Amino acid sequence: MKTIVILGGGVGGIVTANELSNRLGGGHKIIVIEKNSEHTFAPSYLWLMNGARKKKQIIVPLKSLLKEDIEVVNAGVSEIVPAEQKVIAGEKEYRYDFLVIALGADLAPEKIQGWDDSIQTYYTLEGAARLHEKLTNFPGGKVALVIASMPYKCPGAPHEGAMLIEDFFRAKGLQEKVEISLFTPEPQPLPVAGPELGNAVKGMLEKKGIHFHPSMNLNSVDTKSKQLLFNGKDTFGYDLLVVIPPHQAPSVIGKSGLANASGWIDVNPASLQTKYENVFAIGDVASIPLPGRWIPDKPMTLPKAGVFAHLQADVVAKNIAHKIGGEKADEKFCADGYCMLEAGEDLAGFAYGDFFGEPHPQVQLKQIGRKWHIGKVLFEKWWLSPFGFKKTLYKKLLQEGGRLIGIPVKL
Ligand SMILES: Cc1cc2nc3c(=O)[nH]c(=O)nc-3n(C[C@H](O)[C@H](O)[C@H](O)COP(=O)(O)OP(=O)(O)OC[C@H]3O[C@@H](n4cnc5c(N)ncnc54)[C@H](O)[C@@H]3O)c2cc1C
Repeated sequence: MKTIVILGGGVGGIVTANELSNRLGGGHKIIVIEKNSEHTFAPSYLWLMNGARKKKQIIVPLKSLLKEDIEVVNAGVSEIVPAEQKVIAGEKEYRYDFLVIALGADLAPEKIQGWDDSIQTYYTLEGAARLHEKLTNFPGGKVALVIASMPYKCPGAPHEGAMLIEDFFRAKGLQEKVEISLFTPEPQPLPVAGPELGNAVKGMLEKKGIHFHPSMNLNSVDTKSKQLLFNGKDTFGYDLLVVIPPHQAPSVIGKSGLANASGWIDVNPASLQTKYENVFAIGDVASIPLPGRWIPDKPMTLPKAGVFAHLQADVVAKNIAHKIGGEKADEKFCADGYCMLEAGEDLAGFAYGDFFGEPHPQVQLKQIGRKWHIGKVLFEKWWLSPFGFKKTLYKKLLQEGGRLIGIPVKL
């Protein structure tokens, strides 16, 4: 009997555990160690922000998303010791034959000089709910949405946020009284997805009157005078500030001997294996350079996105099952990713393509329409449904929808 320990019960951890359980069919131990007993669906934070969802609609017990034979340990992981094939969580020791690290990325707003509670973010559940209240009571003025640093989760989410905020004020008849600006240190929107998508998203923002400011590195915020300082010289006054906070790897990675110079975990891009043969890292915590891409002087890395955590989890689970079964572990991760980009008015764009494409990622935006928004809603319903009839129904709907429009849906 083998023991597979999965650290983190988010997107990557859930998919790895269920896929392993499907493949191994009993006889082995699958343990998920997760500090939260509840799971929230992060893409829906945008809908919490604009009032389309209530908190309770996007939170479910973690156990309801996992197959029954999977053991869930509700504890924080405090130590990872790959040389001894063990981890410590909640003061207990867990030994493993295979380890999958899917601990995601932590937010570090305190790294912003001048950070205080008046600054908003929709990158957390509580933050999105709080921002909804702020937007509801906002009388008009300048809204600044700032990407504080890279990398950050979901390269589409800041642009979706800007468009949904615009849509929120338009619906209230306040569009003439609100000016929205999006600041990013990147030279274009979503450089990780290539120039074609970047230009298409720029066009979407322009159409909505959102001012896009590229190559703006945030130095500090003065919340008293409501001023932002960029690039050591450019200032910008705001009335409402929304930030995408700096991201960092969970602190336990730093002590594990697995972290690279930036704190994330380097992996083999095809197998997601770390420098230890039986230890894998997937999702946001892993760092995978994009071939030939630099920004501006650092290698660009594969975006931190649920779609990739999901695909990587699938590859790792299959390879572990192959190894246990004495077969060749030859599943490979390929970075064909997609994203439904919410644009407001219940419309969305659909970005799809090869993020490992050369000379640059080849991701295209399909024409904006209601079907992509419906696809995103169906995906949310499928993801949050417990096992059983409803889950199967949503999966069938998504797969049939994908078949009709010629896009394979892998769930
Ligand atoms: C607003 C927003 C919108 C997004 N929209 C999209 C989208 O449309 N499409 C898309 O593909 N992606 C989207 N994402 C990104 C997506 O949510 C993440 O990339 C994805 O969840 C990463 O999966 P993961 O398994 O690596 O990490 P997570 O899903 O974050 O899971 C990590 C888990 O580890 C747990 N954990 C951390 N440290 C410890 C510890 N020490 N001990 C125990 N447990 C621990 C955490 O509690 C968490 O449950 C969005 C994110 C945000 C914030």
